[in-house]
Amino acid sequence: MSIICPDCHAELEPQNGLAHCENCHKDINLEARCPECHQPLQVLKACGAVDYFCQNGHGLISKKRVEFVPV
Ligand SMILES: [Zn+2]
Ligand SMILES: [Zn+2]
Repeated sequence: MSIICPDCHAELEPQNGLAHCENCHKDINLEARCPECHQPLQVLKACGAVDYFCQNGHGLISKKRVEFVPV
């Protein structure tokens, strides 16, 4: 999924919890949220891989399903 720059509304591709807007020359911090309950996910980093875990009973969330929202 893509996210929208809050300043210029360009569509950005999130990478590693960050989105870079070339129009505004800035990085936008993203928060990972559960697609089911929309609560912030716990980020588990292991061996270079990142996993997302919902503490509200939805377990591990695949990176493709994580909702990223600008913070
Ligand atoms: Zn922008
Ligand atoms: Zn959840």
